[in-house]
Amino acid sequence: MNTATANRNNVNLHDVAIIGGGLVGASLALALQPAGLNVALVEPQPAAVTADGDWDSRIYAISPGNAAFLTRLGVWTRLDPQRVQRVETMVISGDRRDSRLQFSAYDAGLPELAYIVESSALQRAMLDMIAVEPGVCMLCPAQATGLAVMDDAARVTLADGSLLDAQLVVGTDGRDSLVRREAGIDAKISDYRQSGVVANFATEKPHHGSAFQWFFEDGILALLPLPGNRVSMVWSTSEEYTQTLLSLDAQALADRVAEASGGAVGMLQLMTPAAAFPLRLAKIARLVSARLALAGDAAHNVHPLAGQGVNLGFRDVRVLAEVLASRAPRQDCGDLALLRRYERARREDIAAIAMSTDALQKLFGSRSVLLSGVRNFGLGALNQLPVLKNLLIQHAVA
Ligand SMILES: Cc1cc2nc3c(=O)[nH]c(=O)nc-3n(C[C@H](O)[C@H](O)[C@H](O)COP(=O)(O)OP(=O)(O)OC[C@H]3O[C@@H](n4cnc5c(N)ncnc54)[C@H](O)[C@@H]3O)c2cc1C
Repeated sequence: MNTATANRNNVNLHDVAIIGGGLVGASLALALQPAGLNVALVEPQPAAVTADGDWDSRIYAISPGNAAFLTRLGVWTRLDPQRVQRVETMVISGDRRDSRLQFSAYDAGLPELAYIVESSALQRAMLDMIAVEPGVCMLCPAQATGLAVMDDAARVTLADGSLLDAQLVVGTDGRDSLVRREAGIDAKISDYRQSGVVANFATEKPHHGSAFQWFFEDGILALLPLPGNRVSMVWSTSEEYTQTLLSLDAQALADRVAEASGGAVGMLQLMTPAAAFPLRLAKIARLVSARLALAGDAAHNVHPLAGQGVNLGFRDVRVLAEVLASRAPRQDCGDLALLRRYERARREDIAAIAMSTDALQKLFGSRSVLLSGVRNFGLGALNQLPVLKNLLIQHAVA
């Protein structure tokens, strides 16, 4: 990043420039509107559209706390309720038949543990709102290629050579964040040497609102409920087994997943082709610097076994929007003291999720007989501890 005292002649000054219009960046643009902030949102790719009736194989388990946040933004009510599935129970199994941990919304006194929503539906709902929001200037397709911090603003250079000035630049540009790189913020990346293989299936038996997860020696299989007799799979597994799964034809893949899941929802029929996403852990040294903040995957990458990635990102947005809205009347959005409040408020949640998902991945990814005993014993023992189970649930639903 260049530190320059360039003059801003002929360049509009926004309060906030958000780089990256994925779910986190788009929700931030909307969340800043009640504070009356003037926002530019930069995104290279128009939103992907799924053909009518097709089910997106990128789905998210959204926590009730984040569903409430998206409701306050007006996004949730734009979703077709027929395509949103409540998760009422979660059944987690080890590699021994008797090692099982079950969470139930009813036992925890909650209406639901999570909601399953298609990524494209959430994205569409947000972008439709942004299109009619006078406080948001959406630049798409547009790509940030450079960043410089000046005395009174940060300046973003776009691929077409145009410039964008803002009091604050927020990098929501995903795991390979250009904003993070340009700001010189260190990222400690550990490759899990695994991918998350996703696909949707029609099921023979009803799932009754249950999410299932199996911890095997060589991976973690999750079947998340979709409306009707359908489930969405995330199978986090080695690079070699990913290639095996991707090479299977529709029937062979469905049979393989039905077998691995012990027939929990009966026979399966593939609805969407399988796709794979490489998995990694990224610990980011700082969330803020002068006139700059990071949020979403630009600020953290975690293993998807707990379905927390975008949930962490929405919690970043909730805090950042609150901090900016609470600034003093003439306080600049890029004020570092203000941004540090955001960083302090987010540190613990991010570290806790990164650490716990990493520890679980290692514990369950181990071939050691000792660790296998610990994990199987641990699941069964935890199942008998209602207080600890409730603590885990309270964290997951935030
Ligand atoms: C298999 C799998 C399953 C998952 N399941 C869950 C789940 O159930 N629940 C959950 O909470 N999370 C889940 N996650 C994690 C979740 O997918 C991510 O945390 C989330 O998508 C991050 O959103 P984001 O908006 O921060 O980043 P992204 O979705 O990566 O968006 C970044 C955006 O920035 C744009 N961009 C990039 N570079 C530039 C640039 N130079 N200029 C401008 N724009 C740019 C990109 O085009 C993109 O639109 C899962 C992840 C995987 C791999």
